[in-house]
This record gives sequence, C-alpha cells and structure tokens, in this order.
Amino acid sequence: MISNKNNTDLMEKIVSLAKRRGFIFPSSEIYGGFGSGYDYGPLGVELKNNIKKEWWREMIQIHDNIVGLDSSILMNPKVWEASGHLTAGFADFLVECKKCHKRFKGDEIKDKCPECGGSLTSPKKFNLMMKTFAGPVEEESSLVYLRAETTQGIYVNFKNVLNSMRLKIPFGIAQIGKAFRNEINPKNFIYRTREFEQMEMEWFCHPKEAPRYFEFWKEERMKWYQNLGIKKENLRIKEIPKEDLPHYAKQGADLEYKFPFGWGELEAIHNRGDWDLSNHSKHSGQDLGYLDPDTGKKYYPYIVETSAGVDRSVLAFLSEAYSEVKGGRTQTTKSTKEIEILLSLHKRLAPIKVAVLPLVRNKKELTQKAKEIYQDLKRHLRCQYDEVGSIGRRYRRQDEIGTLFAVTVDFETLEKNDVTVRDRDTMKQVRVPIVELLDFIKQKLED
Ligand code: ATP
Repeated sequence: MISNKNNTDLMEKIVSLAKRRGFIFPSSEIYGGFGSGYDYGPLGVELKNNIKKEWWREMIQIHDNIVGLDSSILMNPKVWEASGHLTAGFADFLVECKKCHKRFKGDEIKDKCPECGGSLTSPKKFNLMMKTFAGPVEEESSLVYLRAETTQGIYVNFKNVLNSMRLKIPFGIAQIGKAFRNEINPKNFIYRTREFEQMEMEWFCHPKEAPRYFEFWKEERMKWYQNLGIKKENLRIKEIPKEDLPHYAKQGADLEYKFPFGWGELEAIHNRGDWDLSNHSKHSGQDLGYLDPDTGKKYYPYIVETSAGVDRSVLAFLSEAYSEVKGGRTQTTKSTKEIEILLSLHKRLAPIKVAVLPLVRNKKELTQKAKEIYQDLKRHLRCQYDEVGSIGRRYRRQDEIGTLFAVTVDFETLEKNDVTVRDRDTMKQVRVPIVELLDFIKQKLED
C-alpha cells in the first residue's frame, strides 16, 4: 500500500477523484468556474450529510443539555456591530501592488508583488463581511450582511431558547449552516472558500466553570474525529497565545489536521467569556443576563464554543481515507504497476453502504434476482445497483468511493438462495442467506 502522507501530489489526486466520482465539482464550471466556489455532487452531498448527521448526533443526542437551532443567514445589521465584525475585529490586512494593482494578504507577503515584482502599498484593513441588499431599493438603509459565522444567530436567540426550553445553565445550543467571508486568499480546494458551512456549538456556563469546559470540549472534539477514523497522529491541538487571540476570546485553541498540504485548522475552540451576551445586551437594550434560580444571583454566562468547518471536515475525512494499492488489490489490474484506489471512509460516513452486483449482466435470472435484493435493501440502506463491466472492475469502482459491502448474486444464489458479501476493508467474502442479508449488514454497521 502506498502511504498517502508521503504523497506530495495527494491533494491533486483527491481533487481529481472528487470530480471523477461525483464528490465535488468546481462551481459554475461551464462558465469557467467561480473563484473559490465548489459544488457537492451526488456522493459528496451524501458524505457531507453523513458528517453533519454524526456531529448532530454527537451534540444533540449523546451529550446532555444541548439543543439545536437553525437561524437565518440575513440578520439585523446591528448584530454585526455588536459582535465587533464591522469594526476592527473582523478584518485582514491587505497590500496592493502599485504596478498590477492585485491585492494580497499583508501577513503573507513581505516586500515585492509575487505576480509582477512591483512594489507594494503599506497594509490597509479589509473587512471580510459580505454585503447585499434586502428589499427593492439598493440604498444604505437596506444594506445587510451575509453572516460570517453561524454563532451570532445563537447568541441573539439565547433568551428565546432558554425560556422556551426551560433550560438551566450549563447548557448548549448547536447549529449547522452556511457562512460567508470575503476571503482574500481562498485556497487549497475546499479548505478556504468564500462560502462554507460551519457546525457550531455554544456552551453557556458559569464564568468560573468556563476554563474547565474549555479543556473538556477540546478533548471531546478530538475524540469525535478519532471515533470517525482520523488517526491520532494526524490531529493536534494548538493553543493560541494570549496576544494572538481574536477580539472576543479569553482562551483559544485550534484543532488541527495534517492535511496533504500541511497542518491546518479544522476547528476552533474558544472561551469567549461574556463578550457576546454582554455586548448584545448593550447594543439591543435587552437584558441577556441569567438569573440563577438556586442562588438568586444574576450574571452573564460565559460561552465556550466549538466551531468546526463542514467543508474542512470533508477534506480531512477524504484525505485520511484515501490510499492507493499498487497492482491488483482486486486482481483485476493487468499490470502490477497499475494502481487501485481505496477510500476507507468510516462506516457511518461512507456515502454508499452496499452495492448489489449480479455476477454477469447477460443472464436475466441473475440480474432479476439482484434487482429484487437491491429493491429490498434500498428501503433500509443507501445502496447502489451496478451490472456494467467485469465483477472485479465493479469491486474497484466501489472501493474507490468507499462502499462498505458488495453483495454478489451468482449462479449458486439461484440454487441456494444465498449471496456473497465482500467486505471493503478485508476483502473477505462470506456466503449469507438472502433472508438474513439485511440483518447481517445492519449488524456489521452497528458493530
Ligand atoms: P482560518 O484562519 O484558517 O481561515 P479562522 O480562524 O478564520 O480560519 P474561525 O473563524 O475560527 O476560522 O472559524 C471556525 C471554523 O470555520 C474554522 O476552523 C474552519 O473549519 C471554518 N472556516 C472558517 N473560515 C473558512 C473558510 N474561508 N473556508 C472554509 N472553512 C472555513
């Protein structure tokens, strides 16, 4: 097996597989693409949904005291004044080339323009909020912002959720949704884009408890990625020194993954103190303090947040799962130099759980039986039916997209009413009676 981490062009291979097999396409490709936009294809959307489902399950179902929310993307612009996004906090420094007038992120460029060698202006602040207009008239008063993070929708709903759900501190609110940032330097495929999706959980707690929960949530989040198949050595926590913390944070850490291009942030964990609730109280004139029913004391809860990128998670899980096997994993490659791709996605994340394959397509009895099995299984599991090409080639196609089990219908099936089930990872094949097939696979998916 070729180790993916030694492969310098692994990123290109992932981009190519993603496009070829319907995971991720460049946005608006027929018009020459659109900046850093990407579209998730039929398998990509399944993978992405499975990641979101797993995160939701972990936060809402497994942890106690966390509830969900789906707030709107467009909000009253005052939200962004209060949060600090419109002022100093949410900006990058930009330099412009005096010759070709291209702009670059100031902290990445030192002296000359990397494009034409021209000299650069001194750095200027550039706000990352994307703007649009709400309503028929494009004027200052109808200016609104596309949210730059999902979490502000959580803070402004703090009281609504607290009261309607009769919650007590500590508790969490979790949300998944799109966010937009006018990134100066989108790069590395879906790693940094201008439109992306976040999975954010805000944990409201007593100020004294916040440092403990900050540690707790770092550990919890590390475990989540590992439980879904990411190796420990490819994850690390980078504590953010005080002087580099964002304007709202008291403590911060980046959870990083070893992407094919190097270590990069997958998720941020912050102790945000009372920044959000106190500022929204101040700006809105509404009291967002919490009255402790046990002590009768009022205070602003501190917030510990875990803020993960869905797209970066997709890239991390794809990178982790991708491997190449030289010469004949499935014994269908003619040359030993040929390479077969295996996508060992975790069973909960794999887009397709089962492929149903008749041994050959020109025997009606086999295709008919295989279709019957497929019709039955697909009501319970994400399945695919495939009859095109040699059986080995079809196994390879399924390995490439991470399908967990291949069910083959052969001549013995017609006599004995059983099928061969091939396991993606071990390639072991076992005979299973058709009547037991669904339970057999379900059991394997539960294990
Ligand atoms: P970076 O410095 O790497 O751009 P950030 O520190 O600005 O990230 P946060 O504001 O902490 O990111 O956002 C939380 C999470 O949202 C990030 O860990 C990342 O997974 C995701 N995220 C942020 N910006 C982008 C982006 N432009 N494209 C894709 N995902 C993003």
